[in-house]
Amino acid sequence: MIIVIKQGVTKEQLSLFKTTLEERFHVKVNTWEGVESTVLGLIGDTTSIDEDWVNAQEVVENLRRVQEPYKKANRKFHPDNTIIELPTGQKIGDGSLCIMAGPCSVENEEQINYVAERVKAAGATFLRGGAFKPRTSPYAFQGLKAEGLDLLKGARKLTGLPIVTEIMRVSHIDMFESVDIIQVGARNMQNFELLKELGKIDKPILLKRGLSSTIDEWLMSAEYIMAGGNNKVILCERGIRTFETATRNTLDLSAVPVIKSKSHLPVIVDPSHATGKAALVETMALAAVAAGADGLMIEVHNDPKHALSDGAQSLTPDQFDTVARKVLTLHQTMKTIHQA
Ligand code: PEP
Ligand code: MN
Repeated sequence: MIIVIKQGVTKEQLSLFKTTLEERFHVKVNTWEGVESTVLGLIGDTTSIDEDWVNAQEVVENLRRVQEPYKKANRKFHPDNTIIELPTGQKIGDGSLCIMAGPCSVENEEQINYVAERVKAAGATFLRGGAFKPRTSPYAFQGLKAEGLDLLKGARKLTGLPIVTEIMRVSHIDMFESVDIIQVGARNMQNFELLKELGKIDKPILLKRGLSSTIDEWLMSAEYIMAGGNNKVILCERGIRTFETATRNTLDLSAVPVIKSKSHLPVIVDPSHATGKAALVETMALAAVAAGADGLMIEVHNDPKHALSDGAQSLTPDQFDTVARKVLTLHQTMKTIHQA
């Protein structure tokens, strides 16, 4: 249940009302104070709450019952967009277009440094690269692990780009201490123990959509992280399993406006894993920007043919130059269109 508070209500009146709600109905009350309005979100069993009683209270403007099981990720509880700001100043969800680019896997120092410099020059705002890789086959390259993390940090030092990399186990959280954004991959979207632990840290989490997950399941996974106190969640649509085999996955672009209506969290799109084909990345990246995504995640490799993972979907740095230029131009155009 959410309760919209009347304008002009004093802090004392609000605090008294909240205590009454908590004591009378045994619910937890979350407060969201916006510029124009104050909204209370009631968490717990609200079935016994008498709506007439609530409406009769002097401080109440109106109330709404929320059907969705997610509260903290719900836009009804938090009408303004969440903007995630890194300690280094970069913002996600503020209307700018964030571009996370880099190889699927960190392979060696020369490779990651070269790709980092090239994507930065093209306009990327974050460097991505996998050190711990979730591979379908146990015999496939599993990543450079801790050495990969060190190489990413080296590339960050060289370029100044914050780093985004995937975590697979709870016991690695300490090792990821100096990573700027921790990615939870599609295969771990419902690794609830991992999500709960990530909820206890103060670091942005990039939560990819599960291979066969509904939007509500995805938002519930975000809720797991947020329930622990970490509100810095960025969602990433990366394609879902359908009957179609022409592409690696089916990019569900409508997830972008759907997320925007259901949640206040920023949402980015990964056209690389969604299509599995380098030739399709530009078109779908542009489409994602037109659909209102807050950013993109794109795989870029110095030598895609010889990449140790996901070569077929990786752009060369030259191809990325073109894609970055086009998406940034379209992003500006979209702003003009929306202002018109
Ligand atoms: C990745 O980003 O390299 C990755 C493995 O992505 P996903 O979890 O979306 O498959
Ligand atoms: Mn990949």
